[in-house]
Amino acid sequence: MLVVMRHGASADEVDRVVKVIGELGYDARPMPGAQRTAIGVVGNDGRVDSSRLAALPGVVEIIHVTQPYKQVSREWRPESTIVTIAPGVSFGGDEVPIIAGPCSVESEEQIIEAARAARDAGAAALRGGAFKPRSSPYAFQGLGKKGLELLEIARRETGLPIVTEAMDDEGAYLVAEYADCIQIGARNMQNYSLLKTVGRIGKPVLLKRGMAATITDLLLSAEYILSEGNEQVILCERGVRTFDPATRNMLDLTAIPTVHRMSHLPIIADPSHGTGIRDRVTPMARAALAAGADGIIVEMHPHPDNALSDGAQSLHPDELTSLIKELRAVATAIGRSVTPAGTTEVRSGTH
Ligand code: PEP
Ligand code: MN
Repeated sequence: MLVVMRHGASADEVDRVVKVIGELGYDARPMPGAQRTAIGVVGNDGRVDSSRLAALPGVVEIIHVTQPYKQVSREWRPESTIVTIAPGVSFGGDEVPIIAGPCSVESEEQIIEAARAARDAGAAALRGGAFKPRSSPYAFQGLGKKGLELLEIARRETGLPIVTEAMDDEGAYLVAEYADCIQIGARNMQNYSLLKTVGRIGKPVLLKRGMAATITDLLLSAEYILSEGNEQVILCERGVRTFDPATRNMLDLTAIPTVHRMSHLPIIADPSHGTGIRDRVTPMARAALAAGADGIIVEMHPHPDNALSDGAQSLHPDELTSLIKELRAVATAIGRSVTPAGTTEVRSGTH
């Protein structure tokens, strides 16, 4: 439920509403906005008796949020949320950042070469997994902590902020020490304990859609993170499983405008896992941006033939350069722009 205050309601009036919500046994989440302050009510299982709140001075409207997800819904917050992972790199506004890099961090030489290529091609952030959720237990599982240390070196070299995956609660705290944005992969989208943990950590989160998850499932997973007090969530469409083996997954482009309608959170697209085949990546990246994606995350490897994971879907560096050039044209056509590379000053990181 949302309690909407009249424009110009006083701080005392807002405090009074917060106090009464507490007396009723719920948690109050005041959200000052440009037009008006709204106060969210959480902690209720069913419908709240709003008569006492409706009568308080300054209250203009009570909105009962109808969806099972609350804080992620557009009803809850009509303005789009902008998630900033580093200075100058924001998702959800007019600028569209490109996150590029290899599937996995493999060595210092590889990740530095990839980071430089990503920056030179025009990417605004570097991706690379140190903890890899692989379908087979015998496949390369990632370098772990060493991989995070190498990502930190790559950030120092290029200034690009880091997006990297956490697979479990313990790993999330470690990843948070190094990453600018913590990725929750498709396989962990419904790992509720992990979602609560990254909610409590409070760093920006990139939440990927599960391969058999509905859009409502995705939003409910995001709700877990917001319910712990972390609103810095970027959603990601990365393809869903279908009956057709022609591609690895089917990139659900309809999810992009659908999520924008249902939620105020930004949504980006991953055409690499969404297709699984290198030459399908560029067309689908262009299409995703045209459909309104707030960013693109794409796999690029300096030597895809030697990649330890996902080489077949990884772009060569020159293909990433061409792609980003094309994405700039698409962005212009729809009144947006691609975030320039290297807007972040080179930082030493937290280590
Ligand atoms: C990845 O980004 O490398 C990855 C494993 O993605 P997903 O969780 O979408 O499969
Ligand atoms: Mn991958």
